[in-house]
Order: sequence, then C-alpha cells, then structure tokens
Amino acid sequence: MPELPEVETMARELAPRVVGRTFTSFRTDWPRAIKYPAPDRFESGVVGREVLDVARRAKWLVLTLTGDVAMIIQVKMTGQLFVLPPEVTGDKHVHHVFGLSDGLELRIRDTRKFGRLGLYRRDEAGTLLGADEAAELFKDHGPEPLDPAFTLRAFRKHIRGRKGRLKSLLLDQKFIAGIGNIYADEALWRARLHPLRSAASLRPDDERRLYFAIRDVLGEAIDRRGSSVDDYTSLEGDGEMQDYLNVYQRTGEGCPRCGRPTRRIVLGARGTHFCSWCQRLPVDQQTPANRKLLAPARRAARKGPKWSELPTGPGAIGARPAAKASR
Ligand SMILES: [Zn+2]
Repeated sequence: MPELPEVETMARELAPRVVGRTFTSFRTDWPRAIKYPAPDRFESGVVGREVLDVARRAKWLVLTLTGDVAMIIQVKMTGQLFVLPPEVTGDKHVHHVFGLSDGLELRIRDTRKFGRLGLYRRDEAGTLLGADEAAELFKDHGPEPLDPAFTLRAFRKHIRGRKGRLKSLLLDQKFIAGIGNIYADEALWRARLHPLRSAASLRPDDERRLYFAIRDVLGEAIDRRGSSVDDYTSLEGDGEMQDYLNVYQRTGEGCPRCGRPTRRIVLGARGTHFCSWCQRLPVDQQTPANRKLLAPARRAARKGPKWSELPTGPGAIGARPAAKASR
C-alpha cells in the first residue's frame, strides 16, 4: 500500500504532466469512488478548471484547481495514475478518466477500487471547506514527518506521554501522517528499537534515534521513488526502494547489520519484521502479552485439503457459501 514516499513520488511526477492544463472532460465507471460531491456535480465542478498545483498531504494527492477548489485523490491499495494519449485503450481497470487541454488523459487505474476522489472548496487559509466530509477529511491526521517544523524537539514533545507499542504508534495516522507498514518496520530497524517496545519506555537517546530513522528512511525512499511492492507504481515507472529495504518482507534473510535471520510476527493483523538481536526488547518490556506475540506461531494440524483446494466446477460442494462465510 502506498505510503508517504510513494504518494509524494506520484505527486512530483504528476505535477509536470497536469499543472497548467485544464480539465476538459471527466468520465467514470465507478462513481462510488467519488466521496464528495455527487458524481454529476463532481464532473461539472472539475471540467473547465485549470490545475495550478499538485501536492501531497498524508497519503492523499491534493490538486489545487482554479476557483479555490481542491481535488483530492486517495490512491489507497491499488490506485495508479497515468497520463496517456486517448488512443491507448483497453485497460478494464481504468475507472476514472480526466480529459486534459493538451489532448492527453489523466487516468486512474485501480484494480481493487478502494481509491477515492473528492472535490472541495478552500478557504483563505487553504483549509478545505464546503462539506462535512471535507471538514472530516484531514482532521485526524498527525504532523507531516518531513515538515521542517517537525523538529526533534517537536517530536519529543509529541511522543512523550504516548501509550502503546512503537509499531502500532507509528502506524497511527493521528500520531504521524503517512507512515505505513513498510516504513514503520524499516524506521524501527534503523533506530534499533523493538516493535513491541512501549513508547513510554523510550529514553532521550531512543527518541533521537527514532526521529532521525523516520526522517531518513522516508527521505531515502522519496529519493528512490518509493517501494514497488504489491501494486505501487508511479507515473515514471516502478520505484527502487524495495531493493534497499533492510527487514520488510525479508523474513528469514540475514539482517544487514548482524547477519541473524529477520523475524516476522503478527501485530494488529499486520506482519511485523525485525531483528531480534539488533532490536532487543528490554527485560522490563517482556510482559506476558509481548511474550505471547513473540512465541513462534504454531501451525494448526490440517486434516486433509482446505475446501478451497477441492475441485471446483459444477457439482462442487458448497464452494460459493463457503467463500462468502470465510471473508
Ligand atoms: Zn540484526
């Protein structure tokens, strides 16, 4: 899932392709993606407006349009952006198409259709207005980790008094905007901090390492145009950061620092990767709950094949209802 560096890369690569162009048309075959306003109003609101700027906030793309209007694109899991000539057709996963005044089209491809679009008014301060949805939009996002105002001092103030484990805290968008599973694991590895460690137990030196680890890994990932794991790709193609990850999805491979195998545990339904040698859990943090999370997963003994491994087709037993029930 695209995180801050991936969405930042998309914003940077989208800007030269759309800024200065006017939207001449809009069509969609998936209007449910339009969060605000109603699809027909979205179309009339967007057509005829020029794109002035493309920026990123948290994991959203924010396109500033003429008339103090901002269009938001949330790419979510599988959203991809392309600017292509209209002749290139035939991709059934393209769900939203914006005609551009230079004759090209901005297309949003989204295999799983979790992405969202919105069109909002801005007030003088740049805040998005015009709907309850808009007011809700960014209110739950914490500070931008690469904002110059987000200094080490600000980070210390921000993290002190926080409860919970470091991994969960880094994933919390209300704490810091834009970090997801990849860069939470990578930042904690760089900072040599165990993902299950409690935020409250950090000493000043731990805070300092974590702060710089977050900023460094996100900065490096932007320089390398993001991590093309899963579906992420940007307008100029795949990123390269996936080749420079130290722990994420490297279970069993040697830690680049100490050579010991990378471990994976599941925390809050998310895979969490770390080096148990470089990222020690202090003795006072080895609570029963943490020890349970760290215990090697016991595989349930399987009796015969799963239903999904049984033959399918006419006469197959219960395939449809089972598929529904298992979701
Ligand atoms: Zn290590």
